[in-house]
Amino acid sequence: AAPVAMVSGMSSMSRNHIIVKSGTTLEKLANILTFAFDKTGTLTKNQLVIDEIIPADDSLSKDRLQGLAASVEQQSSHIIATSLVNNTPKSLLLNVSNIKETTGEGVTGQVDDDEIKVGKLSFVDPNHPKLNVNSTAIYIAINNKFAGYITFKDQIRPETKTTIARLRRQGVKQIMMLTGDHEDVAEKIAQSAGINKSEVHADLLPDQKIKAIKNVTPDLRPVAMVGDGVNDAPSLMAADVGIAMGAQGATAASESADMVIMVNDLSKVNDAVAISKHTMKVAH
Ligand code: ADP
Ligand code: MG
Repeated sequence: AAPVAMVSGMSSMSRNHIIVKSGTTLEKLANILTFAFDKTGTLTKNQLVIDEIIPADDSLSKDRLQGLAASVEQQSSHIIATSLVNNTPKSLLLNVSNIKETTGEGVTGQVDDDEIKVGKLSFVDPNHPKLNVNSTAIYIAINNKFAGYITFKDQIRPETKTTIARLRRQGVKQIMMLTGDHEDVAEKIAQSAGINKSEVHADLLPDQKIKAIKNVTPDLRPVAMVGDGVNDAPSLMAADVGIAMGAQGATAASESADMVIMVNDLSKVNDAVAISKHTMKVAH
């Protein structure tokens, strides 16, 4: 495209708090046919609200369960972790050592002589029978023994539904949800967002998010992926245009992205598409 138009397009992006790392990205964005979205923190608000704290039995108090989970989550940037830690009184926090995070699965750490695991049920206690939990949740095991779980309210962003509808009017043919959360939660959010059930991909590990992007058929390409977390970094790189919600500052997601939205507002993707289309039109 003509250099003058590109410069003006780029500066229009930056006035809208959108960082575009290259002119090629701006060009590609004008023709995107598939938009893939991460759920937690992207289609939904970037803070979850603690709902219920459920110890496995009476030997463990709710405070102790919350304290253990929040303590091992203190260094994680996952939105579940930050929401839990920010909403746990400091007095419940314990000393933890040997913290290790497995991306898209959970965290382990040691409190006194106990090994604490927090994350997906399959991660903390692979042999546990499936639990009927219909909300976003983390599970806790102490020395590999299931100790309970904490549920969260994952609320759709106020701007999500109109953003999706407007993307369709802007010519996007397919809107997908890619999430590590389970199907029930994913479908509920998808329905409120105006995303088809058939385009919801749930229970995905970071690798499987990449696969979902790569599997998009040629007639529905190019693909843009919008995400916010470390676990989204690989799929942002796999997409033709990777877009990070970067309001929280420099994250792994924003480093791997072609574009970063610097404000906590999903509708900026509509502005970005509109600016890129306008830029390409005046450039020819
Ligand atoms: P999404 O793709 O919707 O943003 P993620 O892939 O980040 O979701 O996470 C999927 C699931 O993995 C979460 O719902 C949670 O159960 C678990 N998980 C991942 N990281 C953590 C963590 N640091 N602490 C607890 N659970 C985690
Ligand atoms: Mg996320």
